[in-house]
Amino acid sequence: METTQASLAQHYLNQEKEYGAHDYNPLPVVLAKGSGVFLWDVDGKKYYDFLSAYSAVNQGHCHPEIVKTLQEQAATLTLTSRAFHNNKLGDYMEFTTKFFGFERLLPMNTGAEGVETSIKITRKWGYLHKGVPENQAQIIVCNNNFHGRTTTIISFSSDPGSKNHFGPHTPGFISIPYNDLTALEETLKNNPNVVGFLVEPIQGEAGVYTPDTDFIRGARALCSQYNALLIADEIQTGIGRTGALLAVCGDCSCQGSCERQKATYIRPDLLILGKALSAGTYPVSAVLCDSHIMDVIQPGQHGSTFGGNPLGVTVALKALQVVRDEKLPQNARKLGKVFRAEMQKYIDGSTIVSSVRGRGLLNAIVINDTPDSKTAWNICLRLRDNGLLAKPTHGNIIRFAPPLVMTEEQLMDCISIIKKTLTEFES
Ligand SMILES: *Cc1c(COP(=O)(O)O)cnc(C)c1O
Repeated sequence: METTQASLAQHYLNQEKEYGAHDYNPLPVVLAKGSGVFLWDVDGKKYYDFLSAYSAVNQGHCHPEIVKTLQEQAATLTLTSRAFHNNKLGDYMEFTTKFFGFERLLPMNTGAEGVETSIKITRKWGYLHKGVPENQAQIIVCNNNFHGRTTTIISFSSDPGSKNHFGPHTPGFISIPYNDLTALEETLKNNPNVVGFLVEPIQGEAGVYTPDTDFIRGARALCSQYNALLIADEIQTGIGRTGALLAVCGDCSCQGSCERQKATYIRPDLLILGKALSAGTYPVSAVLCDSHIMDVIQPGQHGSTFGGNPLGVTVALKALQVVRDEKLPQNARKLGKVFRAEMQKYIDGSTIVSSVRGRGLLNAIVINDTPDSKTAWNICLRLRDNGLLAKPTHGNIIRFAPPLVMTEEQLMDCISIIKKTLTEFES
């Protein structure tokens, strides 16, 4: 029996609906292939990717060197567990700690595991080095945070859908408004058992909320003053996305080779990486910090069967080298400026879009409608029809985060697709 292409896409949609958990609400497009900034669906229709798998594919889809590395390592050695050493983990740890300027690295797989790991390290540091009474440690987080989906992490989410009916929730977290140094100082002052402040330098999932320039810097100073650890979740903002190697690098464009003494750099005590750490080919996450903090973890106290496996770390090492060698942070910075300037020009004459914000190639536009309206979703459907894939976040916000390997010519092409599509929605 012959199956038409259109019915093939429908077939896959139906299969997921019938046999899968309904934990996502994907845009109706069924992808079959990716290369660089492009994706193709099962009908062979080509799209610009403007989500990059939530910034996991900064290096572009199926980067040839990364794929080659993955294939070679997959045919050589994939998993030993940490019961034994392997000949790849050391190179990865040495490169990555030097690249980001920390003494030690703890390897995990998903972003949420990285966050969980940082919570454990921070609490234990609090008991061993700050003298907090056992089981009394508190960690400050921000309203509207996104740090992952595990039971502990959703315990300090402020999104009802992420949290409700999944209790009892893990205690030990205090939530304050984002971008509010006064609230941070008050909370630190009033709670001597605070051991850390967990923060996204830009809140990606919440809708690309970019804080005031002095927020992270001020948080750094307050954490030092009150002897609490600053934990930067750069799972989405890191690895070139915001126009620097890390969002905490600020305006420094060193590609990871600088001595990190630039005035713009704000050094967290713990750095959490994931997503683009492996260029979207394999789940790899990591926590980096100095030995006086990391060494609270001793054998048998933390771990993961897959964490630090030779396949994952070989891919991650190559993924970081690609970011450095192809100067992806610089490209993100340059194209991000073009993108926001072009969108601002459009917004000046628009009723449907109220603002654009972001840094580097992590940007969002705010649609001039209520968060429960369908407008942003409908715009994303039309963008899809016009050959560009993006997804609304929190109802009326559309995040735009293409792979960082994009050229300026491609970006201008995308901007014209976006403008043309938005024009259809102007009243
Ligand atoms: C995606 C993300 C996570 C969770 O990563 P997973 O790999 O999905 O577990 C945590 N923090 C931030 C900021 C993220 O963007």
